[in-house]
Amino acid sequence: MKLQDIQPLSFPGYDDGAPIVIAGPCSAETEEQTLDAARALSSIGVKIFRAGIWKPRTMPGGFEGVGDRGLPWLQTVKRETGMLVATEVATIDHVKAALDAGIDILWMGARTSTNPFAMQEIADMLRGHNEVTVLVKNPLNPDLDLWLGALQRIMGAGITRIGAVHRGFSSAGEHIYRNNPQWHIPFELRRLAPGMTILCDPSHIGGKRKYVESLSQIALDTGFDGLMIESHCHPDQALSDSAQQVTPQDLGAILRRLVVRSGAPIEDELDLLRQQIDDCDHELLAVLARRMSVSREIGRFKRAHNLRVVQPQRYQDMIAARLDEAEQLGLQTDFTQRVMQAIHEESVRQQLSL
Ligand code: PEP
Ligand code: MN
Repeated sequence: MKLQDIQPLSFPGYDDGAPIVIAGPCSAETEEQTLDAARALSSIGVKIFRAGIWKPRTMPGGFEGVGDRGLPWLQTVKRETGMLVATEVATIDHVKAALDAGIDILWMGARTSTNPFAMQEIADMLRGHNEVTVLVKNPLNPDLDLWLGALQRIMGAGITRIGAVHRGFSSAGEHIYRNNPQWHIPFELRRLAPGMTILCDPSHIGGKRKYVESLSQIALDTGFDGLMIESHCHPDQALSDSAQQVTPQDLGAILRRLVVRSGAPIEDELDLLRQQIDDCDHELLAVLARRMSVSREIGRFKRAHNLRVVQPQRYQDMIAARLDEAEQLGLQTDFTQRVMQAIHEESVRQQLSL
């Protein structure tokens, strides 16, 4: 099977083209917390429940999930509410345990899709399990090929119920969002796999609950097939990702406010392009802020060593090198000169006012 042959996923309750909604806590913490969330989400019409039981945490010592003992809780959710259940798998042991427990949807997280060895082992373990649905989140770094490779490994194991989840990309420095959306990457994935279900995870992109609604609306407006949203009955007490989880009640209100538009091609195209402009501007501002912070650092060094703030030779060399580089990128010389001068002036001002 090729990427362009992947068919849309259909789930009971979402077969009329309505956006697919997968919701549930970042982590299953206790049986009670899991079931409370599931019941509340079912009552607002969510039909697919998510909960992580093996949690890949950046630092050791944090809450790393309840492990296998959370599987029966998910079985109870399925039995009691009739929702499909989804969890993250990162090792072959997780896959084995989740398949044995009859989990409907397995997703590979960003830390796993980044690792081709892990993806291949998981794919081999999934071989022959055509009953299961597999979702592959984008890798941590903005590398479309790595994402495609992860999807292809799963396809190579004969799995046909396959989809992707866009959760943004990790990046250094201060940004408004936790993860940089880099929307052009999932858009390119859409072009290469037009039929594949691609969901958006606004919770991990935004990192704060106040961004969930606007990011969800962007996702729906730009042709994503649905959303994966983290929801917890008491978000502030959540053991993982507490800042980004919304209550089931708030999620219900968000879902009611989201506007599902028909795919008018011209509008969509314009939206996609504007989104890319917004992306570029977010990056530009973050880079400028980082440059100023480095510049202040240099200023402190110069002061400590009694050096002049402006070193004319360094400035001339820098401008010449930038103009050269910019020209190769197709930028107008006088435009680059104005931009670089403005940036340099601001750097000098910051160094002088330390
Ligand atoms: C999650 O969904 O809770 C998770 C860990 O996601 P990601 O892999 O996107 O960080
Ligand atoms: Mn999470």
